[in-house]
Amino acid sequence: KYKGPSYENLKATRRANLSPALTTYYGKPLALNQGYKQWLFDLDGKRYLDMFGGICTVSVGHSHPKITEAVNEQMSTLGHCSNVYYHPKIHQYAEKLAAKLPNKLKVIYFVNSGSEANDLAVLMARCYTRKSDIVSLKNCYHGMTYETMALTCNGYYKYPVPQSPGFFRTMNPDVYRGIWGGQNCRDGPVQTDRVCNCSQECEAGIKYLQQFDEELKYEFPKCGIAAFFAESIQGVGGAVQYPKNYIKGIYNRVSATGGVFVSDEVQTGFGRTGEHFWGFQSHEIEPDIVTMAKGIGNGFPLAAVATTPEIAESLTKAGHFNTFGGNPVSSTVGLAVLDIIEEENLQENSKTVGTHLLVELAKLRELSPFVGDVRGKGLMIGVELVSDKETKIPLDSGRFLKLWETCLENGLIVGKGGLHGNVLRIKPPMCITQEDADFTVDILRDALGKI
Ligand code: PMP
Repeated sequence: KYKGPSYENLKATRRANLSPALTTYYGKPLALNQGYKQWLFDLDGKRYLDMFGGICTVSVGHSHPKITEAVNEQMSTLGHCSNVYYHPKIHQYAEKLAAKLPNKLKVIYFVNSGSEANDLAVLMARCYTRKSDIVSLKNCYHGMTYETMALTCNGYYKYPVPQSPGFFRTMNPDVYRGIWGGQNCRDGPVQTDRVCNCSQECEAGIKYLQQFDEELKYEFPKCGIAAFFAESIQGVGGAVQYPKNYIKGIYNRVSATGGVFVSDEVQTGFGRTGEHFWGFQSHEIEPDIVTMAKGIGNGFPLAAVATTPEIAESLTKAGHFNTFGGNPVSSTVGLAVLDIIEEENLQENSKTVGTHLLVELAKLRELSPFVGDVRGKGLMIGVELVSDKETKIPLDSGRFLKLWETCLENGLIVGKGGLHGNVLRIKPPMCITQEDADFTVDILRDALGKI
């Protein structure tokens, strides 16, 4: 039973002592006390099915006993030691994580957050290529440090201050909202009734790549591209998927100019997309740098950057240091997460339960005038809500919030995202069952009926 400060007390402290820029979900923000597997419990003990996993972070389930046990043991042996010494845990962890990656990505840097990981990747790319320009996709989110704020392309996260120089964006090859379509040429189990005229190569993909070629030639400065950053499926952007072969086309173009490709696997890594351990594998590329966070630590502040020995060598021109990155406790957590994903077959579960959930959610498109698109792969899912399916006008915030609150009342937590805030983001702990998937669809169907 919860014995801490009252709800009113929490509200007052939040107002007085925490950042006023922090957003809260729901009209009456949810106050949480406990978590177990795929469930969360509020201060009164009411249970919720957590289909958002702390924004795609809780990968193997809340309060996993194996992690708790391992952390307790490590904390009582050696809680922290700097990386200026050897400690077996970081060595074991780096070895195990590298084994999950393509052979060429042998060197791992441990940091504490996704923003820090992407910040480091920017530095690495610039040091290695000796070029300066960084390109990302419109509608992307890669972090909130000063550099990654410039990398991110969503006005909501852009403060009215000069942005770091050297960052450029290209068109987002969004197959649902983008001007060239390509909906049937995306990866994943949900197909659409829209006719796709592509024969061999996706025509939409080709057009977006041609656009990039033009930007390269006529728009971007001549400093040269140091790196192209992309997620395998956009997370904060609303589970946006690209046409088949688009990422591969970008990878080839960027490599040809001497730049590197950075895959941000902060949301799509660690088995979430089901078919593969990493999202980039669906795009049939081997990135030069991979950044990871969130699910890597199941909620513990842990993140990493993986790269090739050659790129890593370029970072030896000056000292590079991180006090907490890969400390004994965070390495212990990371190791336990990898073990649990294997032991509990969570990648396979993401695939089977995720596919079932996607197929069932897709049926809501026929039932509801508001479900414009259902997309994703494994347990990386987006449901885009619209006022009108033809014009794709985003669902107004009033109706969206009503639907969202109805879900909460009925014990279901789903996320919110997309540029227009009209996409339901579904990224639960990967231990959910088919029953949980069916419960989610039932509650959503009911809530859609009420708006
Ligand atoms: N990259 C992606 C794809 C993310 O979704 C996020 C967080 N939403 C980040 C980077 C930044 O991670 P963090 O909040 O840990 O700094």
